[in-house]
Amino acid sequence: MMVRAAILGLCACLLLLGPLMLSESYVTVLNYIGLYSIVVIGLVLLTGIGGLISFGQAAFVGIGAYATAYLTTVYGLSPWITLLVGIVLSAIAAWLIGGLTLQLGGHYLPLGTLAWGLSLYFLFGNLNFLGGHSGISALPKLDIFGYQVASLRSFSYVVWTVAIGTLWLAHNLLSSREGRAIRALKGGKLMAAAMGVDIARSKIIIFVIAAVLAAISGWLYAHLQRFVNPTPFGLHYGIEYLFMAVVGGAGYIWGAFLGAGVITVLKELLSDLLPKLLGQNGHFEGIVFGILIIALLQCAPDGAWPFFRRLLPARNVKTPQPRSDRPLPRRQAPAGKALLLDVENATKQFGGLIAVNRVSLKLHAGEILALLGPNGAGKSTMFNLISGALPATSGEVRFLGQRIDRLEPHKIATLGISRTFQHVKLMPELSALENVAIGAHLRGRAGILRSALHLERAEEHQLLAEAARQIERVGLARHMHAPAGSLALGEQRILEIARALASDPSALLLDEPAAGLRHLEKKTLAELLRKLREEGMGILLVEHDMDFVMGLVDRVVVMEFGEKIAEGLPEEIRRNPVVLKAYLGGVE
Ligand code: ADP
Ligand code: MG
Repeated sequence: MMVRAAILGLCACLLLLGPLMLSESYVTVLNYIGLYSIVVIGLVLLTGIGGLISFGQAAFVGIGAYATAYLTTVYGLSPWITLLVGIVLSAIAAWLIGGLTLQLGGHYLPLGTLAWGLSLYFLFGNLNFLGGHSGISALPKLDIFGYQVASLRSFSYVVWTVAIGTLWLAHNLLSSREGRAIRALKGGKLMAAAMGVDIARSKIIIFVIAAVLAAISGWLYAHLQRFVNPTPFGLHYGIEYLFMAVVGGAGYIWGAFLGAGVITVLKELLSDLLPKLLGQNGHFEGIVFGILIIALLQCAPDGAWPFFRRLLPARNVKTPQPRSDRPLPRRQAPAGKALLLDVENATKQFGGLIAVNRVSLKLHAGEILALLGPNGAGKSTMFNLISGALPATSGEVRFLGQRIDRLEPHKIATLGISRTFQHVKLMPELSALENVAIGAHLRGRAGILRSALHLERAEEHQLLAEAARQIERVGLARHMHAPAGSLALGEQRILEIARALASDPSALLLDEPAAGLRHLEKKTLAELLRKLREEGMGILLVEHDMDFVMGLVDRVVVMEFGEKIAEGLPEEIRRNPVVLKAYLGGVE
């Protein structure tokens, strides 16, 4: 803690004294680093953390800059009003572009942002009322509570206040339920959707946030230069912003400052040094710059920040304890032995392969139903049909009487179905606690704004406390703060159960939860499942270990080649010749 505080203190001193003591040209560089950092924080959120690539951030910077340039010079509006206009315009543009391309997934967003970056650049250059390629000049100075921000030095304080404020907001956002949803966009979409996260919404939100940050930077830039033309908003700069994010360490918001700093300083140095070294003028820096970046990414593929972070001492994290004054909402438990799941003739076809063929099953509250069958029988596909991860080709799935087979997975989660995955889906770098907290997503209400301002402290505390409680319940308390990826595979499966439980489900789908567990761990798991059944939970269980299943479950459904071949009590199934032949290969 001391070292951290000392480093932060040092940075603060530099930022406070730097603008006063450095020469004017250094202050300019400092200002640019601040301006770029604001854009790059957005990109870190979008690309590094959300996994969505945008080449078009410079165009959003342009919206912020041109909105204020035009409205302040032509209509004499106050820069504070034009800041709002810039924010709204960029948000609308991002919402439209995002709405058009994000659903398509894959490379459509990067392509969409390329097109957007290119076309807006030409639009700025060709609209006469925006001054064409010569731009707009004589923007007013910023006026803060009657104080005119006239000098480069004083502007530095404004830029860096905004940059650090942005960092604070981004940091808050990331350590909230919305933040966990955003983190899950990269590599955890299927899992997050099953935990009730509306993936499409999270994508749009993060895209809009990145665009708004870019526009704010553009607004600052315009009033710093007091002149705008299209050049700094072209695709070239869009790519450079992306470089900064990647070089700094795309997954870390602090990396935004590092990336913006490294690249800005490097460019300055190169454009100073190279002509002298080579004895001739020309834009050689571009070439050397490219080579350096490739070299850097070879050495540090995760960017520069993780490298620095290793030098810092680890943080001490405490396990949050639940507070009784603000309990999390709980679902109303279905009555007694209520029929939870009612699957009727569910069918799933993958091209020529019928993975699930007219299978029906029922799951009641307070019951453990085993779904058995050899590999490839269609069990996991059945889970995917129920949880909405895959749409059924035909057939119906009802939950508490309501049709759910056409609902999106996050809607199904809302109704009270939660699941684990045969192939474990955890966010390996996040702690066990944070991973399980994703499961509690639906039990919080705080949105983006409250999270960014950290006004959701009480709720966030309760969500984490609930996650901690579930981790303790499944017996993994000793791994609470360890990265989920560092747990043994069997423990990771159990951690998935804790995550599913954190959503307070009425029905739990467990896909091979005991695989990779040792004998004692299996006994503990069986005890937990019995306890959950007693509490009224309905559990659908896929498992290969017969001893584990037979001593535990109430009923069994057996599948083979996508079809249901038997159903009954465990003892009946044990003796069923069809099952013995198909599943147990005739030996037992
Ligand atoms: P189980 O869980 O019983 O081992 P699965 O449900 O995973 O079986 O698979 C059933 C069949 O469906 C297998 O032949 C598998 O290859 C196929 N299958 C599963 N998912 C897909 C998919 N997304 N695309 C194509 N085929 C799939
Ligand atoms: Mg399977």
